[in-house]
Amino acid sequence: MARANQITMCSFCGKSKAEVRKLIAGPGVFICDGCVGVCKGVLDKELSQDSRRQVRSLNVPKPADIKRHLDKFVVGQDEAKRTLSVAVYNHYKRVLSLSDEAPSREESEVVDLEKSNILIVGPTGSGKTLLARTLAGLLDVPFAIADATSITEAGYVGEDVENIVLRLLQSADFDVKRAQIGIVYIDEIDKIARKTENVSITRDVSGEGVQQGLLKILEGTVCSVPPQGGRKHPQQEYIRVDTTNILFICGGAFVGLDRVIQRRIGRQVLGFGGGEAAARAAGFAPSEVLAQVEPEDLLGFGFIPEFIGRLPVLSILEELSEEHLARILTEPKNALVKQFAKLLGYDGVELTFTADAVQEFAVRARLKGTGARALRSMVERLMRDVMFEIPGADDIAGVTIDRAVVVGEVPPIIRRKTVQVAA
Ligand code: ADP
Repeated sequence: MARANQITMCSFCGKSKAEVRKLIAGPGVFICDGCVGVCKGVLDKELSQDSRRQVRSLNVPKPADIKRHLDKFVVGQDEAKRTLSVAVYNHYKRVLSLSDEAPSREESEVVDLEKSNILIVGPTGSGKTLLARTLAGLLDVPFAIADATSITEAGYVGEDVENIVLRLLQSADFDVKRAQIGIVYIDEIDKIARKTENVSITRDVSGEGVQQGLLKILEGTVCSVPPQGGRKHPQQEYIRVDTTNILFICGGAFVGLDRVIQRRIGRQVLGFGGGEAAARAAGFAPSEVLAQVEPEDLLGFGFIPEFIGRLPVLSILEELSEEHLARILTEPKNALVKQFAKLLGYDGVELTFTADAVQEFAVRARLKGTGARALRSMVERLMRDVMFEIPGADDIAGVTIDRAVVVGEVPPIIRRKTVQVAA
């Protein structure tokens, strides 16, 4: 057929098949290997400009503005919010300074701005994860949560540290440039402390080795991330991610850290090892004890000095009081009460929580000792039945939850629409 004799040539540069190494056919068009190379060059250049733009487009609010934003979502924890606002501001200023073109880059290398990863010490359900998540939301950077207890030393069963970076990559939809300026929250960091004060001759699988493994990614390294997750595999293709500009926030409850601090304070104040009694004698309430944490106390808790050095910003969260818990139910932008009110609002039903109902929830949540965590499950359980009945019933105008409803004495108080009866 005539088609077989048709001269095939590159639709871009016009070279014939004989003049090129490879000619790729598309529907009605051809492209040669040379032109593919030129196109790739154009795309790569754009990508690298994109990545610089990515960093420069970072809008870093001033510390006071960061704090104001945190106030909208996180109740209490004032000191911690201040510390975090400054640390995050400094971190991203450093990222911006490193992304500048050659002349200023040299300058920034002279004044070496150190990376300010953060350690948050605070009881469970006091807002550690919430703070980290809210910061990432404000800066509009990818965010991932990892659990320190799932990581193990290379060679043992469990996850490699690279999987932490993989989570961030997933949250950035595998956009490496965006992932490289993200925030990672590593929970339960206290669980990788060395369990015993004596150095054991057997290897401490869950503790010190994991701290060692984390050192490099916390400080900044180019790591090879297996895109499928799991353990490293020689045949697998890796994605290379530079962790230099990733902000790591580590958090944990650090049960027992107060005793380590008390022992030190006791020694300092009274000049001998008086322990808890000495600290009490020195007039410190338990919550005041944690606020006096020093890096050496973390050493006593079971962390290696290099690890503590990688987390230079230390922030302490207080245990939430009843008043805090009550405010958490109603005040934050996405407070539980507001969320349920909005949901019922879609069905034209007005939801009211009386002040004594909110107070009762706070009292009960405080007793459970899991911070604000208990609030959600309690409110959800109560609202489940209400949410089940209401969407089907057209004549409900409002639902009121008061203390008697919370303690289970009466069902939710339902107000029905008044029916207009013709005279
Ligand atoms: P953790 O300190 O254990 O990381 P989270 O931050 O995950 O606790 O909080 C658990 C739940 O309680 C979340 O739903 C969070 O929104 C809420 N919460 C905890 N602390 C606060 C707080 N200070 N202000 C507002 N909500 C909070």
